Amino acid sequence: IHSVETNFYLTDHLAAHKRYRPVDVFTHKGKQGHALLIGGSYGKIGAVCLSAKAALMSGCGLVTAYLPKCGYTIIQSAFPEAMAITDGEEHITHINFDFQPKAIGIGPGLGQHPETQKAFHDFLNRYKHQLVIDADGLNILSYNKEWLGLLPEDTILTPHPKELERIMGSWSDGFDKIEKMIAFSKKHNVVLVAKDARTQVVYKDHVYINASGNAALATGGSGDVLTGIITGLLAQGYDAVDAAVFGVYLHGLTSDIAVPETGMQAFTASMILDYIGKAYHKIE
Ligand code: AMP
Ligand code: MG
Repeated sequence: IHSVETNFYLTDHLAAHKRYRPVDVFTHKGKQGHALLIGGSYGKIGAVCLSAKAALMSGCGLVTAYLPKCGYTIIQSAFPEAMAITDGEEHITHINFDFQPKAIGIGPGLGQHPETQKAFHDFLNRYKHQLVIDADGLNILSYNKEWLGLLPEDTILTPHPKELERIMGSWSDGFDKIEKMIAFSKKHNVVLVAKDARTQVVYKDHVYINASGNAALATGGSGDVLTGIITGLLAQGYDAVDAAVFGVYLHGLTSDIAVPETGMQAFTASMILDYIGKAYHKIE
């Protein structure tokens, strides 16, 4: 990194503690924020279920999942706390809703059907508030790079290494990767969350390296849970960088607490949810 203006930070216990916002004793569900999670397609309904549940368990007051009809009974049975809006039979074909969520996450299990891509494009043309975009939401953007210009300011992108390469291009080493992420964040006014064993959150010249988490997180659905957590934090009023930095730390910490009890191999993404409460206790 050649720029003297680049600021590096480690997200450790103290950094997370400073960002933590306690729940007001006089709050009510309407004040805790309503998160909307958009995703799911036939065979990938679990992804949006995990995301929606993670949003609620991060502390927001209400959660709605927007998913295709084939997922309706699944989510209502697996997760009765969630409200559900359906569209399309096996994949999303339009994105329309008649309420104003405090935060929106889109992508987990979304699929890449041409009709879904068109629905996403129409939505980006209409929606002007920040988003969290993950998984197939990122893949769709990678195939249509001109749509990056439509992203609302302070949108959070959460790619794993392959998704990052598709959307940003490849890098030669860690320093090159950070420089390219800084340039990408500045160009598109986004918070970039490069998920990895040591996840990096980049916002313009600010780089936050996460210190929590372990290899138990390398399991299907893990990223979908992170998307839900970050969306839930945004719904509660955390700003974009705080939601990304704190969310990544909280997500990682669940695995650090869990693994001595669950073991590394048997840990699954649903267990991240089981440990969010304990992780909060450790941070507060
Ligand atoms: P995804 O690939 O979208 O399911 O996301 C995987 C999640 O697990 C991300 O939050 C990664 O940072 C995390 N993760 C994957 N592998 C590791 C690892 N070896 N150590 C710590 N975290 C990991
Ligand atoms: Mg993922």
